[in-house]
Amino acid sequence: MSTQKKYSKTKLAQFKKSIEAKLNSVANEMDDIKETLDTNTRGNSSMVQDSVYSVHMADAGTDSYEREKGFHFMNRESDYYKYLVFALQRIEDGSFGICKICDDLIPEERMSEVPNATKCVQCKEKEKLNLA
Ligand SMILES: [Zn+2]
Repeated sequence: MSTQKKYSKTKLAQFKKSIEAKLNSVANEMDDIKETLDTNTRGNSSMVQDSVYSVHMADAGTDSYEREKGFHFMNRESDYYKYLVFALQRIEDGSFGICKICDDLIPEERMSEVPNATKCVQCKEKEKLNLA
């Protein structure tokens, strides 16, 4: 029988807590961006009524650029959000912090930095070398 290395329940609970905190802050940030995007859109539509068409066209250019930046940010944030959710799932199914290549325990520092890591640094490096 293989003695699989694992993080203790206490450690996992700590990881879970910090991942959940990260999830919350990402969710808050996304809410903020959404609000900004909504405000921009609302501001725009009220302007359509009061302003001369050509002036509005000029403004719309800047606004859509700002909005696009917001959307890009949203995409990045929601990717990160998904990774954190995966990390939580891995805590639930017991695969969290275990390298899926060599079955070794991934160091704690790495897991706090990259909670969604599924490979240890050595295996990741080896993989890079193979690709090069
Ligand atoms: Zn490994």
